[in-house]
Amino acid sequence: MPSRPVSDRWRIRPRTTVDLAAIDPGTKAGAPGDKLATKDASAVLRARLAELQARLYAEGSRSLLVVLQAMDAGGKDGTVRAVFEGVNPQGVRVASFKAPTAQELAHDFLWRIHAQAPGDGEIAVFNRSHYEDVLVVRVHGLVGEDVVRARFRRIRAFEELLVGEGTTVVKIMLHISPEEQRTRLQERVDDPAKRWKFNAADLAEREHWDAYQRAFEDAIAATTTRDAPWYVVPGDRNWYRNWAVLNILVDTLERLDPQYPPAPAGVEGTVVE
Ligand code: ATP
Ligand code: MG
Repeated sequence: MPSRPVSDRWRIRPRTTVDLAAIDPGTKAGAPGDKLATKDASAVLRARLAELQARLYAEGSRSLLVVLQAMDAGGKDGTVRAVFEGVNPQGVRVASFKAPTAQELAHDFLWRIHAQAPGDGEIAVFNRSHYEDVLVVRVHGLVGEDVVRARFRRIRAFEELLVGEGTTVVKIMLHISPEEQRTRLQERVDDPAKRWKFNAADLAEREHWDAYQRAFEDAIAATTTRDAPWYVVPGDRNWYRNWAVLNILVDTLERLDPQYPPAPAGVEGTVVE
């Protein structure tokens, strides 16, 4: 029996209920050691990720979609920076989804999303995603509950389409505590290098913390599937979070096992004069 992948610890199995309050955002559970030892382990995983990405790109027939969701200041940007640091930028594309434009609103909610799906050989990282349309939109009552239920079905169908056409889909929620969010938002006020990220609207959203947590729980439970699983990663400690996300991506790509294409006939042994 192959040993259980490290990332299984954070995977949400299909047909389970999700209780975010039961997942400690500050945990160090399963880490290979203290902060320093875990950072060392992450460096090894980063090198492995770079190798697997190079193979995926060279193979050129399959792709990976990584969906990142979190509360405000949940660490999405920092995760992208830390996790993909060693990867060839040529094969990775980050798509950030903000509040929809008038043109985007004039279309179905998956229209702008599908356009950013990864092409053959590519890794696409969604910094926010179609899940906003069952999170922020739901918390603010912009659509009815019947529409939310219908969107869960449509999201499952959309992701099934991607998977069927050769895209591996992983979805990651970075799970922080309200105290950690407070600290980070305060840093955005106090630190001139972070002030550009401060958005007064985040303070208003913070008032809806519990409604957001419920919306995340419902969305994750309704859309975690065997082929497009959700992972909930404890996010209060950046070093733990980065190590966890690296494990998820490496485990996922190891399962894909991308291969360099075989040399064309006659190439082997060729001497370049
Ligand atoms: P950070 O988490 O670091 O603050 P960010 O992802 O929040 O970064 P912002 O530009 O601050 O980036 O915010 C983007 C905003 O767009 C969020 O408030 C999000 O809720 C909103 N948004 C994204 N998609 C949708 C959507 N489909 N409908 C409504 N609002 C959306
Ligand atoms: Mg923001």
